Amino acid sequence: MSADRFSPARCKRLIVKIGSALLVDPQGQVRRDWLKSVVADIAARHAAGQSIAVVSSGAIALGARRLGLAKGGRASLEDAQAAAATGQIALSHCWAELMAEQGLTAAQMLVTLDDLEDRRRYLNAASTLDRLLTLGVVPVINENDSVATEEIRFGDNDRLAARIGQAADAQGVILLSDIDGLYTANPHRDPGATLVPEVRRIDARVRAMADGGSASGMGSGGMISKLEAARIAQRSGLHLAIASGKRDHPLAAYAADCRGTVFVGGKAGSARKAWLAGRLTVKGRISVDAGAADALAGGRSLLAAGAVAVEGRFARGDVIDIAGPDGQTIARGLSEYDAADAVAIVGRRRDALEAILGYAPRAAMVHRDHLVML
Ligand code: GLU
Repeated sequence: MSADRFSPARCKRLIVKIGSALLVDPQGQVRRDWLKSVVADIAARHAAGQSIAVVSSGAIALGARRLGLAKGGRASLEDAQAAAATGQIALSHCWAELMAEQGLTAAQMLVTLDDLEDRRRYLNAASTLDRLLTLGVVPVINENDSVATEEIRFGDNDRLAARIGQAADAQGVILLSDIDGLYTANPHRDPGATLVPEVRRIDARVRAMADGGSASGMGSGGMISKLEAARIAQRSGLHLAIASGKRDHPLAAYAADCRGTVFVGGKAGSARKAWLAGRLTVKGRISVDAGAADALAGGRSLLAAGAVAVEGRFARGDVIDIAGPDGQTIARGLSEYDAADAVAIVGRRRDALEAILGYAPRAAMVHRDHLVML
């Protein structure tokens, strides 16, 4: 698929990430007029039937100014945490207010790295996102910097946006930045640098074009973290674009001139499956009969009726293998049940499940959205 075929407007679900330098002016105030134009763009897309989730930076930059902290609140982890806690409330307020003016409902989600790496928490975050988007709400997401520790932080919202793209089952991610894309060299230093419109593979040559650090000194992004985000996105089959946010109505402007760099998504079936295929730890195993094995190969979910045995100690949301009648592992997926409940319903038909479990059964033992054939 070529870059000109990545049309953000055609994505059913789109993630828009906005960097700190765009949201917050050098005096530490939210750039309200500009933000209004972004929200107007989101409202227009929303009216056209598109679901958008926003990954918004800016909490640390805003909070640091309010608290009078040095180095934009990034002198120490404690400063960043205090700045984030202070700035986040102002940031959310601003988003909620401006969205309401445009008839949109905003919802806040603050996540840590572990929330998306841990399978059960990922499943919860993904279903919250899915529910919000289905309800027509615009989630505004940021890292929960006030509790994240150095070891378990994303640290930049570029990679967070790519992971949210996976979790939301989006088709595209746009990183709005103070730079309009990847250049062949640092454009601030090399006047001969040219914009790269499309990247299919992030190799050493592409990496050499990127320049570490954030030019604005406000966010923690920079081209290196954007490339890492692009790699996460590409592996999951998502397109990722870096485009300039330094103009009003940046989404409409990008749709009009497509100026930026598009990292073309790979072939992965879905973002969720790419996430799943990348996980190595398996907590258990469900063996299935030949009929269920065929159904899985045909893209169906695993139902209790087709299961013949359950092994291992796992909880709902843990990764398990699925084995066919010959004992070979044929698929991997996230269990919808704890092991004890899975054992109890093996081989049972759907209409018997509620009486066995004592609660309304889930749609499947392993739902096809959370299952990948191996
Ligand atoms: N989560 C940080 C904030 O809200 C921004 C991270 C980044 O700069 O990408 O301030």
